[in-house]
Amino acid sequence: MYRTHTCGALNMSHVGQPVQLAGWIQRIRELGGMTFIDLRDRYGITQLVINEDTPADVKTIAETLGREFVLSVHGTVVERSNKNPKLPTGDIEIALSAIQILNASEIPPFTLEEPSDGGEELRARYRYLDLRRGPLQRAMALRHSMTQETRNYLSQCGFLEIETPFLIKSTPEGARDFVVPSRMSPGQFYALPQSPQTFKQLLMVGGFDKYFQIVRCFRDEDLRADRQPEFTQIDCEMSFVDQEAVLLQFEGLACHLFKTVLQKDIPTPFPRMTYKTAMETYGSDKPDIRFDMPLHEITHLAGGTEFALLSTAEYVGGICVKGAATYTRKQLDQLTDWIKQPTVGAQLLVYARCSTGEDGALMYKSSVDKFFNQEALHAWGRVMGAEDGDLLLVTSGPREATQHVLGTLRLEMGDRLGLRKEGVFAPLWVYDFPLLEWDEETERFYAKHHPFTAPKPEDVDALFSNDRNRLAQVHANAYDFVINGTEVGGGSIRIHNARVQEQMFHVLGLSKEEIDSKFSFIIEAFRYGAPPHGGIAFGLDRWCALFSGHESIRDCIAFPKNNSGRDIMLDAPSGIDPAQKKELGL
Ligand code: ASP
Repeated sequence: MYRTHTCGALNMSHVGQPVQLAGWIQRIRELGGMTFIDLRDRYGITQLVINEDTPADVKTIAETLGREFVLSVHGTVVERSNKNPKLPTGDIEIALSAIQILNASEIPPFTLEEPSDGGEELRARYRYLDLRRGPLQRAMALRHSMTQETRNYLSQCGFLEIETPFLIKSTPEGARDFVVPSRMSPGQFYALPQSPQTFKQLLMVGGFDKYFQIVRCFRDEDLRADRQPEFTQIDCEMSFVDQEAVLLQFEGLACHLFKTVLQKDIPTPFPRMTYKTAMETYGSDKPDIRFDMPLHEITHLAGGTEFALLSTAEYVGGICVKGAATYTRKQLDQLTDWIKQPTVGAQLLVYARCSTGEDGALMYKSSVDKFFNQEALHAWGRVMGAEDGDLLLVTSGPREATQHVLGTLRLEMGDRLGLRKEGVFAPLWVYDFPLLEWDEETERFYAKHHPFTAPKPEDVDALFSNDRNRLAQVHANAYDFVINGTEVGGGSIRIHNARVQEQMFHVLGLSKEEIDSKFSFIIEAFRYGAPPHGGIAFGLDRWCALFSGHESIRDCIAFPKNNSGRDIMLDAPSGIDPAQKKELGL
């Protein structure tokens, strides 16, 4: 009734055919007595033309049209005299014989083109209009392929998709819960799940040895980075597996998605790196390994001078930036300002340019020539693998913080030198995470992953030692899946022994009463023959953003919230009326 073809379907093979199309007006152009209308739908754009041969009534209607009007048009496919090779439909246009206005449109508050002239806030308020634009249309289609192919692959491997509840019990640990007041139990609250973690483990106890779910999770966090209060995970769990089995299984999923969604073959096995190596070599637990530029420690080569920032530092380290000796003084000053800003947090940036001297030997020009002679700088250069034309960048401070700074500097230099190439994908497993993390402020341990992660079998004794130093050394079979410096997923082998789980809660500072009231269900379940199990969850929004080349996960979510957790279109959250409050016992 409305269309015979979509706006992306027609080409030279249709010339001469009568067709009917439906869509939105993207643009109207008047040109030398002719009118051109770009008609858009999900599939593309087709040009409609009105000229001297067009029936008079069509011309009359055409005069009333505006952007984003919805039309159904009849016409004949004709070859264009002025072809547009950028459009799949660019060889043809439709000579109109009839126009029906299906709906008029107010003038849209921003242009629905790529890129749009609308600011983020404005586009969020009119999200349904923004969604008509190509980049969002493509992002949603990609997301659909991701979920579809995930279901295909995991189902084929014998996984069952099982839903778990949204109205659950608030538990400590992890992020803050969103809570929902209960009308039937006045004064009591459900919590929305931060993830289905305990449920998927209970499904393992329930005998479903391969589970997955594409599931919404809710975390009431401050939304600093690119986070959403509700986001989607590909959540998975398996019984009778060790870490190796989990990594291989989900490497398979990742390869399947690369292949089917991006048509990319990624070599396997994916590289793997321990947490310790990642921190020492890349200053990050999620290194971008599209480029090399590792960190090098030179603490032992930086002492013995009066330059206290180097000679007394716990850690001195640097990176060797290939071919960057051409960096000017001005660029280096700017880099020094960059590294000293609070978000990066270094105290100094030392540089040394490596070049070939007149005698043909390597030589260094550094910002610390006063303290370090050529011999000393050569020692630095040897450790850092410097060659003619390279630039050494060095900083110092407390070990971990400084490694982190160098990791950030490495990414910055990678960006500046164009080494973080779009369309190149470098997946990586990071494994052997510490089980626990000591927090100085609250003087207690937190679970690095979550409290259900198992210590490595050889570290179980240490977990029971109640000795802070030994506890800090406990490692877990926990792993993260990283692509291009972004953590896309994470998981672990779980505790399946009630006694170990109780001890874990105890180490995390929970009292016996708290353990009983919050977690007795899972500890009890572990007493009824819980199988060994482990799993992983992937952040679907982030994975889609990576695959589609979008900076923000918001561009891969149909109706996202803004940075303050608000839905600008709905104007939520909002107050509720007093009667509703009363009913809820609030
Ligand atoms: N539930 C965990 C999370 O949300 C993932 C996992 O351990 O499977 O981070």
